[in-house]
Amino acid sequence: MGFSFLNFFSSDIGIDLGTANTLIYVKGRGIVVNEPSIIALEENSDKVIAVGDEARQMLGRTHQDIVTIRPLKDGVIADFEANEIMIREFIKKANINRMMLGKIVVCVPSGITEVEKRAVRDSAERAGGREAHLVAEAMASAIGVGLDIQEPIGNMIVDIGGGTAEIAVISLNGIVHHTSIRVGGDEMNQAIIHYFKKNYNLLIGEKSAENLKCDIGSAAPLEEELVTEVKGRDLVDGIPKTIEVTSEQIRSALNDSIMTIVDAIKLSLERTPPELASDILDRGIILTGGGALLMNLDVRIREETSMPIHVAEDPLTCVARGCGTILDNLDRFEKVLLKQRRSG
Ligand code: ADP
Ligand code: MG
Repeated sequence: MGFSFLNFFSSDIGIDLGTANTLIYVKGRGIVVNEPSIIALEENSDKVIAVGDEARQMLGRTHQDIVTIRPLKDGVIADFEANEIMIREFIKKANINRMMLGKIVVCVPSGITEVEKRAVRDSAERAGGREAHLVAEAMASAIGVGLDIQEPIGNMIVDIGGGTAEIAVISLNGIVHHTSIRVGGDEMNQAIIHYFKKNYNLLIGEKSAENLKCDIGSAAPLEEELVTEVKGRDLVDGIPKTIEVTSEQIRSALNDSIMTIVDAIKLSLERTPPELASDILDRGIILTGGGALLMNLDVRIREETSMPIHVAEDPLTCVARGCGTILDNLDRFEKVLLKQRRSG
């Protein structure tokens, strides 16, 4: 591409479009947006009321004229229109004039369909992007972690996000083997809600469940077990009440979700060609995504698989950082861009 006045001043950006969080990396500026993937719209006009953190505050607190939407669910785009509006609003938040938008690299779940790819690309271009590229999240994540994905060596990345856990074996710029299961942070929250309903007849909110998970949740015994409180509504007499909660209780509530992830990792290892499996045994499995922050998840997966397990540094930003590296070196990473049939 020729050098032009516009290219010189335009902003290239990378977007980690996650089920739970959207991050935007701007070339030369770093990560400038990091907010929940939620949008609040006026019911009948589609007028944007709020996006990100502000929209999250409104979850469960809106009246009938406002709807809060999470456009991505279970790793797929559940609402294309809301998704496009959300992307546009976040780009605005990044303080980029649409006339000045340059290239856009969007990281998407590896299992995304052709229709979804097209929709994301179109959304990026309609938002003003001059050139939109898609990259599989697992690939961006591996690059963000600092793995040399161009070597003929096997690496396993397990990314636990809001809607899914993605397990990918990467070698020579490509995904050799990929599994996606619909178990992630959201399902863990639901498991916690279910636990209190079943054992205490107590209905707790999604936000409370998430707080319990992040504050005292774990996947294996803690050196010192923790205690906290949770508020909910008693399902028998309908009255709000507070009860004491221990980390052991939350661990037992999360157990099924954890085992599902462990089983998927084992299955992926079984399906990995022997040479690559032996690389992974040497180098270990890397955990990324917000779920990697669950206390002692690495300990538990190590016990269950007998593999070395590493939690990535700053697991919530791996994909966005990898996206940034790809954007800064588009020529070098040409091979990791998702190919797509283009009509017209
Ligand atoms: P996505 O890529 O799907 O947007 P993220 O990688 O941003 O997901 O991770 C978000 C998920 O991580 C949420 O479900 C959140 O509850 C979970 N999470 C964040 N911090 C923690 C923590 N300390 N312990 C357990 N889960 C966490
Ligand atoms: Mg993610």
